[in-house]
Amino acid sequence: MKEKVFFKTFGCRSNIYDTQIMIASLKDYTLAKSESESDIIVINSCTVTNGADKGVKEYISKVKKLNKKIIFTGCGIEGLGRESYDKNNVFGVFGHSKKQDISNLLDLKKRFYFSDNLAHIDSTIIKKFVGKSRAFIKIQEGCDFDCSYCIIPQVRGKARSVKRKHIIEQVKVLADSNISEIVLSGTNMGSYGKDSNDTLPKLILDIAKIDGIKRIRLGSLEPSQIKEDFLEILDSSFLAKHLHIALQYTQDSILEIMNRKNNFESDLELFNKIAKKGFALGTDFIVGHPGENEEIFNTALNNLSLLPLTHIHAFIYSPRNKTLSSKMKLDIKKEIAKERLKKVKNLVDSKNLAFRETKKSLEVLVESKKENFFYGLDQFFNKIKIKSDKNLSHKWLSIKNYEVKEVLNYAEI
Ligand code: SF4
Repeated sequence: MKEKVFFKTFGCRSNIYDTQIMIASLKDYTLAKSESESDIIVINSCTVTNGADKGVKEYISKVKKLNKKIIFTGCGIEGLGRESYDKNNVFGVFGHSKKQDISNLLDLKKRFYFSDNLAHIDSTIIKKFVGKSRAFIKIQEGCDFDCSYCIIPQVRGKARSVKRKHIIEQVKVLADSNISEIVLSGTNMGSYGKDSNDTLPKLILDIAKIDGIKRIRLGSLEPSQIKEDFLEILDSSFLAKHLHIALQYTQDSILEIMNRKNNFESDLELFNKIAKKGFALGTDFIVGHPGENEEIFNTALNNLSLLPLTHIHAFIYSPRNKTLSSKMKLDIKKEIAKERLKKVKNLVDSKNLAFRETKKSLEVLVESKKENFFYGLDQFFNKIKIKSDKNLSHKWLSIKNYEVKEVLNYAEI
């Protein structure tokens, strides 16, 4: 009988995609639905913060009690992976670059530790994203930036692009399996093509020609990488009307401490330009980085209020060992950081509500069903809850009659 493998994925879209690569590469094993019914547990780890490491560590302690074979991979192999291997808490460890060999690795009878090759780029074609209406496609790996708080360049390596031919083939295969929306993603997606004499706008235009692809969403972009050729394609109908542009902060002295390449003045200009084209705009925001004080935060909050924002991924800074920021003095109390976080979230939530109230027609791809309600995302990346007796799963809907509720839109069809 074939052994069953359970995949546990921590972290970001890149990791979700990496798990899909491992599943697509799995031979002579079947997938388990839960840890308890599995023979082998593969942990795809995240190490972006010390807290992320802690979460993975707690998970290992929990599943160790089940007496399964535990294999560790992902961004945390050099830190927690090494430690867990040395303590015999996991059977084997391997880096991202070996994930396509997963079946051979699972066959190994002897314990193993295989480091990552940070120049590797995937070549596996994923045949289907099970039960999904949209699929993530990783077009790029690694990052050449050097943000002071971030460990990612150390664990994912330098920026490198997946070959355009491979990406196009991947999208065609998914389009044939009824995927109609794709989300392009990468560690630092805006650097796509730097090493292959290509550009992101050219790639997007090529993907848009593929039959069956109705909407293209983009993952996170860096403001300093958005150039004129990118702004020119924003009027195309195949692009979702939502961009996530990672600012990280909205006051220049902190941006400088963070070693970011953006500044508030040019960020504001860029956001206004894109918002004029009808786009919803999201960003990341780190509260409480070393150097932040009351006055700086108030300026940042005021600047934030000037931006045409609709979505925010805001979180409290937590030091990550082996980064420059982790060596900086941090004297912001937890309660104060929490209050500041709340102000940031409340501000953007109210902007989101105001944005949704101005819209008249939504183009929705239904993604899931829960307790008699369907859920989907519109072109602006806003969630809609739909009550219907019809089967709307994976359907595209044009919705004009809906109610704007506090956190989402609601329709009955
Ligand atoms: S751009 Fe900055 S925050 Fe993003 S992965 Fe690169 S170093 Fe980290």
